[in-house]
Amino acid sequence: MSSQTSPTRDCTFTADRCTVCGAPRINARQVCGSWRPGLGDRVHDALGAVGITPERVASALGVDDCGCEGRRKLLNQAGNVLGIGAPPQESSS
Ligand SMILES: [Zn+2]
Repeated sequence: MSSQTSPTRDCTFTADRCTVCGAPRINARQVCGSWRPGLGDRVHDALGAVGITPERVASALGVDDCGCEGRRKLLNQAGNVLGIGAPPQESSS
């Protein structure tokens, strides 16, 4: 048994986002800092920065779900193919 702290730590989640690295909750235990924002995350953040949030889009359209999260995941997957962003790695322990 070693008392040294592990070089990697698990993400700390609040409301499905890590409070440290901002990663979305994908794995139950994922290595903190292994996540890189994907294409969809960047679009989401850029729109949010100018006040366009999924909630506002949904209310403007008069629907419960604007589909932003689905598009975000699709964009993230497309970006991963292009080498943009990286999903969080799963903790090995
Ligand atoms: Zn994290």
